[in-house]
Amino acid sequence: MRQPAGSLRTVLPPWSGGPADAATWNSALETMAPAALAALEGRLLRRQLAWTARASVFYRAKWSDAGVDAARIRRTADLRDLPFTEKSELQAALEGSGAFGTNQCVPLDRLIRMQATGGTTSSPMRMALTRHDAAVYGETGARAAWAAGLRPGDVLFECMNYAMYAGGVNDHMTFETVGACVAPVGVGQSRRLLSVLAGMDVPAALYSTPSYALHLAQVARDEGVEPRDLGLRKGLFSGDAGLENPSIRGAIEQTFGMITRNIYGTSETAPLGAECDEADGLHFTGHGLYAAELVETETGEPIPLEDGAAGELVLTSLDREAHPLVRMRTRDHVRVTVAPCPCGRTGFRFRVLGRADDMFIVRGINVYPQAVGTVLAEFRPEVSGEYEVVLETPPPLVEPPLVRVELAATLSQADRERLRERIVGRVREVLVFTPNVVLLEPESMSRTEGKARRLIRAYLEDTR
Ligand SMILES: [Zn+2]
Repeated sequence: MRQPAGSLRTVLPPWSGGPADAATWNSALETMAPAALAALEGRLLRRQLAWTARASVFYRAKWSDAGVDAARIRRTADLRDLPFTEKSELQAALEGSGAFGTNQCVPLDRLIRMQATGGTTSSPMRMALTRHDAAVYGETGARAAWAAGLRPGDVLFECMNYAMYAGGVNDHMTFETVGACVAPVGVGQSRRLLSVLAGMDVPAALYSTPSYALHLAQVARDEGVEPRDLGLRKGLFSGDAGLENPSIRGAIEQTFGMITRNIYGTSETAPLGAECDEADGLHFTGHGLYAAELVETETGEPIPLEDGAAGELVLTSLDREAHPLVRMRTRDHVRVTVAPCPCGRTGFRFRVLGRADDMFIVRGINVYPQAVGTVLAEFRPEVSGEYEVVLETPPPLVEPPLVRVELAATLSQADRERLRERIVGRVREVLVFTPNVVLLEPESMSRTEGKARRLIRAYLEDTR
């Protein structure tokens, strides 16, 4: 692909996509020895930082304010000398400065696709991709999808939000990159999807949030169709944390008779983590495209990527033109493992523990809403799996948090009360705090967002 003068040009080995029985999409990079990868990433990082210093008004100002010289950064291990990028800064950089703000590093006529996702404030976060950035996105996501078992010949129904959400069209294109046949379903189309599936006599694949899959099963049953009879045999899931929860995962596998694989990405990057056939943690698949660091959330201190280490994932783009990201804090807490995997991928694997922003403290114990979700999943099928934790006062909590739990079916008053007491008891047993549980009617909670919002800080909203 010819690039206009002054743009980044890739120095990576050619992108491939091996034969359908290959374990990796890009074996040259995904199985590269750590020392060779570090050397390659050092070159890529120097080039990315030089480009960013030249083209990004946002980063020039940021680095000048911090008194740092990005030209002194020679390898990914030196990144700790540069300041973090908070999503709120990227958001602020959009204001009053053209279509995509001060981190837009190319003229508009080089941009081919934009997104506008939920930002840290009420206004959406706008980002755009050049043709090269879109190809990098496709490559990053293709590796993740391949790891998760997607292959040419698969018919994949993507039930993600396409309405300017990053995971809609962008992820769709990664599946096309793999060579799968992708149907852009979107959300809110469950009945239409069921009627399409009814006429197709081949095994198919689903890409959605875990909660959408459970919702789809319910819609199918309401229509008198057994979810297993839909023929959905591969499930790729992203967007919320349900698949980290063994009982939700088991419920989806059983309900549809499908294999499930977890994929991780952020709205600002691309999918860059996925489970392989071993389904034992998410492989980081960003080799040569994104550098990953682990840091202590409170202090920002780097944490070595060692077995069992836990911290916040921080990402730096290595090959991005329009919106480079240097040490972007994902706010996702992960635990890593570096033990080799039989699939041969090098690098680390990780599990998402929860959102750093969502962690709250009850009686000195750190709690993620996800942990509440894991307990609630034990109560399926009486509950739907949808829930919200509402903090009415700022942590550390003196009052018990309110937990809103959606029922899967209408219950009698007596049954409701019994269920409520069992949930309270089980949360107390597992998480050592006593929640104030409120049960909500079936289908009363919103499912339209890509990432379900599990923590509501009511004390902030009251003061608006
Ligand atoms: Zn593996």
